[in-house]
Amino acid sequence: SLVAGVIGVQGNVSEHAAAIERACEREGRAVEVREIRTAGIVPECDVLAMPGGESTTISRLIEREGIAEEVVAHVEAGKPLLATCAGLIVAANDAHDDRVSTLNVLDVTVERNAFGRQKDSFEAPLEVAGLEKPFPAVFIRAPVIDQVGDVEVLATWDGRPVAVRDGPVIATSFHPELTHDDRIHRLAFFE
Ligand code: GLN
Repeated sequence: SLVAGVIGVQGNVSEHAAAIERACEREGRAVEVREIRTAGIVPECDVLAMPGGESTTISRLIEREGIAEEVVAHVEAGKPLLATCAGLIVAANDAHDDRVSTLNVLDVTVERNAFGRQKDSFEAPLEVAGLEKPFPAVFIRAPVIDQVGDVEVLATWDGRPVAVRDGPVIATSFHPELTHDDRIHRLAFFE
């Protein structure tokens, strides 16, 4: 069966695990989900999710545990990674913040907590390339993608990219793991 890893040091870990199980059930795929807090597990994973949460904390802990370099190797091997919100920040090339050492597996730069100045959090129906109907996108103190390199923009909100694909990496400013809609997980892992 498919082995799916969720970077589990901090953030929306169980929500991603549940979303992956739903997505695999829908695809008729058996899956074993592993929550990753130590080195040595990422190399056994076919697909990975890096959750939302607090990017400074996630970055510090995956560096300390030796998980960061394994995630980079996973992407370099062409295996899927879904990075959401704080996960997107950690995956990026730069977050304009010394406390986040980014993995440089996603050719964008981001500004933390810069989305939606009036409202910290909001939900919006989002047109996403590859999905037939709008996706219910939940934004929570979301990062703004302020520069894009060689990536495919899958969705924009308010003129800003909020979902991008860079080879095996799909990253979203919003939180597909917090809704019961598993289409982004299926897009990331099966298409
Ligand atoms: N504000 C968080 C950060 O900068 C990201 C928000 C989230 O993942 N919900 O790390």
